[in-house]
Amino acid sequence: MNYYKKLLTEISVPESAVDCAKCTDMYKCCTYRPFIANFLAGGIGDKLETFDLREWDFTICGLSPNLNYRKQFKGKSGWGFGTDATLLCSFYNQKTGGCNVWENRPGVCRTFFCKSSYYDEGQTYWKSAEEVTWQLEWILAEDFLHHKGWTFDEIAEVKAYLHESAVEKKAKLPMAATFSSVMEAISFYKQAQQYVMDLKTEDVEELLGRSGLVKQEQVLAQKTKLR
Ligand code: SF4
Ligand code: SF4
Repeated sequence: MNYYKKLLTEISVPESAVDCAKCTDMYKCCTYRPFIANFLAGGIGDKLETFDLREWDFTICGLSPNLNYRKQFKGKSGWGFGTDATLLCSFYNQKTGGCNVWENRPGVCRTFFCKSSYYDEGQTYWKSAEEVTWQLEWILAEDFLHHKGWTFDEIAEVKAYLHESAVEKKAKLPMAATFSSVMEAISFYKQAQQYVMDLKTEDVEELLGRSGLVKQEQVLAQKTKLR
């Protein structure tokens, strides 16, 4: 199994206290737009063309809500959770109350639970699980970019734009780090997906390094203690 998918399987824990099908929030917890790493966007593939993504940036690192949205989200600081339609994720399906990109939703969505069957320990666990999936998503997205010839400095410029401080700094996305059309972006993201799916376990372990592997082990050990 691909390393990323294996990690997603390993971190999963049944959450019997959370019945999302009976969620009382109008838009569930999807009044938030997540960063979607290039290889995950590649998994969504041609379907990306069917969504209204005007308030998103197509970057080499992945798909990100644009500065305008991020400013708005930050300004509301949690107000409107589950109810504010202006914050709604473009991938939310208003008819079914589901996610239109379920298979390729990022770790931040997979690890969010508004409450946990394991109380505070569960919430702490999910926070750690989010951190390791986030870290792995970035490592894989960046490795693909290096494979395509992008330098550390060029990638750092895009990361600065994607960082939350970019809103105050009014940072700009470097032109070279975006695409001339949605089709061009989709093609690039599909290449990223193929590249990441083909990586071998030993390749990913080398990318993670000792500290990354230890962090994953710690999270999985945390999981075994949940009661
Ligand atoms: S995790 Fe999200 S969808 Fe599930 S019950 Fe909580 S707010 Fe609703
Ligand atoms: S990607 Fe899917 S799960 Fe995540 S916020 Fe959007 S609609 Fe919700």
